[in-house]
Amino acid sequence: MTARSKQTVPKQPAPKKPAPKKPAPKKPAPKKVAPKKAAPGQAARIYRELVALYPDAHCELDFESPYQLLAATILSAQCTDKRVNMTTPQLFAAYPTPADLAAARPEDVEAIVKSTGFFRAKARSLIGMASALTDRHGGAVPPRMDDLVVLPGVGRKTANVVLGNAFGMNVGMVVDTHVGRLAVRLGLTTETDPLRVEQALMRLFPAEQWTMLAHLLIWHGRRVCDARKPRCGTCTLAPLCPSAQLPG
Ligand code: SF4
Repeated sequence: MTARSKQTVPKQPAPKKPAPKKPAPKKPAPKKVAPKKAAPGQAARIYRELVALYPDAHCELDFESPYQLLAATILSAQCTDKRVNMTTPQLFAAYPTPADLAAARPEDVEAIVKSTGFFRAKARSLIGMASALTDRHGGAVPPRMDDLVVLPGVGRKTANVVLGNAFGMNVGMVVDTHVGRLAVRLGLTTETDPLRVEQALMRLFPAEQWTMLAHLLIWHGRRVCDARKPRCGTCTLAPLCPSAQLPG
């Protein structure tokens, strides 16, 4: 019996383990631009400068009565004032009084307000608001915050628009997207919740300025202090504005 010669199997090199992947270097988180506070006395200076810039600032919704302004403001949610103003003449011609609107067929109102967006919800709010005015307030718009905010489609912002512009009452301040943004950029508040922004502005400005201040901030927000590209280089508020160096 011959001894079987051992076969020598050449050793295979062990397969290389793939090098552990290096974690991608973390991108530094974008620096947040902390809102800076305006210096004391800034509020009055900012108001004076805005009045000088926009002496004719006013509500840009067309209306001839509290009922019309209330309806127009409901329609202005997520829609431009210009578009609302193109829609309301037909609406008020078809339904001149809250009683007429309360009796409207939803599909007829929807067809009129369609171009303002969210037309089904808006038509429902308009008819509901008109029914509530007819049933609870003798067909008139009540000049009271508590009565307004319980009407269908009406929140505090809409109520402030109506009280300030149709009744000349400074009960609160309209805080829309422009007012909220400018209040922070101008260092008037660090709050972002509309109700808190409103409270902060009401503490800083005298009541008789509240309605006009909202118009002024909205006008400046639409014309100069754009959400994405504020035109700080040409803004006459820049010397007073702690955010004047915002990029863009
Ligand atoms: S300076 Fe710039 S950030 Fe300040 S209000 Fe003017 S446009 Fe807006």
